[in-house]
Order: sequence, then C-alpha cells, then structure tokens
Amino acid sequence: MQQLARAVALAFNQLPRPHRVMLGSLTVATLAVAVWRPYVYHPSDDPTPIVKHVELEKNELRTLIPEASEPLDQATPDDDIPQDEIDKDVPDETGTHDYVVSSGDTLSSVLNQYGIDMGEIAQLVKADKELRNLAIGQQLSWTLTDDGQLNRLTWEINRRETRTYDRTGNGFKMSSEMQKGEWVNKAMSGTVSGSFAASAQSAGLTSGETSAVIKAMQWQMDFRKLRKGDKFAVLMSREMLDGKREQSQLLGVRVRSSGKDYYAFRSEDGKFYDRNASGLARGFMRFPTVKQFRVSSNYNPRRVNPVTGRIAPHKGVDFAMPLGTPVLAVGDGEVVIAKRSGAAGNYVAIRHGRQYTTRYMHLKKLLVTPGQKVKRGDRIALSGNTGRSTGPHLHYEIWVNNQAVNPLTAKLPRSEGLTGKDRRDYLAQVREIQPQLTF
Ligand SMILES: [Zn+2]
Repeated sequence: MQQLARAVALAFNQLPRPHRVMLGSLTVATLAVAVWRPYVYHPSDDPTPIVKHVELEKNELRTLIPEASEPLDQATPDDDIPQDEIDKDVPDETGTHDYVVSSGDTLSSVLNQYGIDMGEIAQLVKADKELRNLAIGQQLSWTLTDDGQLNRLTWEINRRETRTYDRTGNGFKMSSEMQKGEWVNKAMSGTVSGSFAASAQSAGLTSGETSAVIKAMQWQMDFRKLRKGDKFAVLMSREMLDGKREQSQLLGVRVRSSGKDYYAFRSEDGKFYDRNASGLARGFMRFPTVKQFRVSSNYNPRRVNPVTGRIAPHKGVDFAMPLGTPVLAVGDGEVVIAKRSGAAGNYVAIRHGRQYTTRYMHLKKLLVTPGQKVKRGDRIALSGNTGRSTGPHLHYEIWVNNQAVNPLTAKLPRSEGLTGKDRRDYLAQVREIQPQLTF
C-alpha cells in the first residue's frame, strides 16, 4: 500500500497543478468510497480489521492531501507589486534587511518575526553571547540564503564598532571591525528637477543617502508627487577615513513642496520624528478585520509542500472566516493592486509609506480600485474563497522592504512620539540642526 501511495505521489508531481488538484479530489472521493463501502455494506462482519484498515487509509490520504479539511491556500504569487519611479531610481539594497532596535526588542524577537528560526538564533548567540544585550537605536542588517536561512548578520554596536556574523558549516563566525574615521557633518541642498533621486544625486547625496531621506519622510510625503522647483535640504553625518567616505547617517531633512515645509529629524533611538517630537507613522491595526478570527494556517517561510517535497513558503497568515466578512485596510495607504489574479483570486495590495505593503487574497468582492487612497479601518473588500483556496478564508500578508514578515508578530509602525528626557534631548537637537537646513 505504501509503495502504491509513493507511486501515486510521484505521478502527482509530474502533473500540472490544476490537474493535481482535480486528481487529488477524485482520489480522495474514490478511496473514501472504497474504504467505507465494506464497512457500510457488511455491518455484521468483525469490524476490528476494517477499522484498522480505515485508519491506515486516512493517514495515507493525509500525506497526499494535507489538511484537506482546513481552509488552505498554496504558495501565492509575489512578483506583481508594481514598482514606481523611486524604486527604479533608488536601488534598495535588495535582499538586505535593516532593523533599528527599539524598546523591548531581543535578538530572537527581532529575527523571529522575519521567519528566522530559533535554532539559527541560538547559533548566533553561541558565536557571540553579547548579542543578548541589544541596545535601543543599534542597527541590525542581514541577508538570507535562497532557502530562507540566515546568511550574514551585521550588528552596528555604535559608530565605532560593527560586528559581522557569517554562516559557516553549522554555525556562525563572528568578526569585528573598528572604525577609525572622523565624523563630520555635511549640509546639502537642491532643487527638484526631474526625479527626486536624480536631483538628490546632483546635490551630492549618494544613493544610500537618498534612500535614507525617502525612508525618513515616507509617512509625510509622496516623493513621486514632488514638482519641479520644490526644494530640499539635508544634514548628513559622514565618517571620513583617509579622505574617503566610509558611512553616513541622516540627521535631519527639510522638504518644501508647494510652499509648505516638511521636516524629519533623527532621534537617539534611530527613528525619525517631526519638529515637535511627534511620531510620523500613524499606527497599524494588527488584524484586517473588526473581530479576530481563528488562524487556520500560520506564516511559514520554509513550509514544505508534502506532495512535491519542494519549499513552498506560506508568506502570510490565513484567517478562517465566513464568506462576505468585511476586510479592512490595516493602515493609511494607497491601493496598488485590486484585481482578479489566478492563484490569489480576487486580491488587493496596499502600499503604506515606502517600506510597507499589505496584501489580502481570495476575496469575494473588491470595494476599492488601484490608485485609491485608503485610511486605516476602511473597508476594502469582502472575504471569500476565490483562486487557489480550499475553503472560505482570508490570506493576509505584510511586506517590509520587499520581504514578507509574520503578520502576527511583526513590529508595526507606531504613532507615539517621544516623552520626558528623550523628548527634551531631541528638541535640543532639533534647535541645533534646523537652522542648518537652508535652501
Ligand atoms: Zn494563505
């Protein structure tokens, strides 16, 4: 029987997906009939061997058609978020993920929300126990291998020291680099003509610095909407070593668009606030529905398809919910996709600022159109069971910097501002930097 099951599974792999789904359902039906008939038609027989037989069959079926009773979807497309001018102009160090440590973070809480498993995190800590002591404002960045494992992690402890952890055979190797350069402030300003990225570069900013400016301002303005003649000024802190620029940090930025000034300043915690120390991002809701529904399938970047044996990441979380449940935008943003698409069914994607995108799939009815601005809590669709889906559910994803993160644990943008001593320190810094932001 096992050999037969294996042969069936093998034959399965050779088939195109729609055929697999069809054949899978037929196999279930056929086997179910074959298994149950003797039980139904021969009630007087000794049932024990038959019951055993039934259980065996059921287990084998389960390996062929996993969780057939759960509302479940397969890997969904991830390549059709439209790029805009800024994405094309500012290469976004694709594949590298950046994170600024904030209060309450630990190495495992940070990395785990990006799907890096606890085993790898333990290996990192084995390489350097000090990784247990992350401090607010430090920067972590990392890259992953093709199959979603951690490849390299960089920890900027302070302006002087950076530690790097590289994957070796079965662990990580730590190396430390001390910076010896001088940090100097550099004010630059320019006028928009053509794209912002091109204008910033002619004003002397590197593409990394341009990208930092766009990120800092992402909740206040849409750089695609800048007009010719709009002005900008930045203050960068740059580390110079032997006359060469090593690295830089954005301290403050001012943009004047249509006669109105917008500001963002860097705080000690590595985040950007406005001139009054208020947070710039309006918070996100954790769930895209009014009430919280049962999770039927979790985010899993290394999910293995039991039939094909291939890695088929589940890039979001599935909530089982009745057909027609209102689906809400989790934050303010702009609809970038609202259409019917093969596997995803009816599908909406919303862009929030420049780093965040949320995606909602298998919808019954779309209530928004591409280009439409939405506010947190707006109804964008009714939930459904369209596309490659085996039951009514909502598949929900959050992407940060072009990477899918765990929607249940991801740190979401927050709206709180600074308070107390942090606020006083910040405002003192603003008083120092703002006069330097002249056009
Ligand atoms: Zn799903």
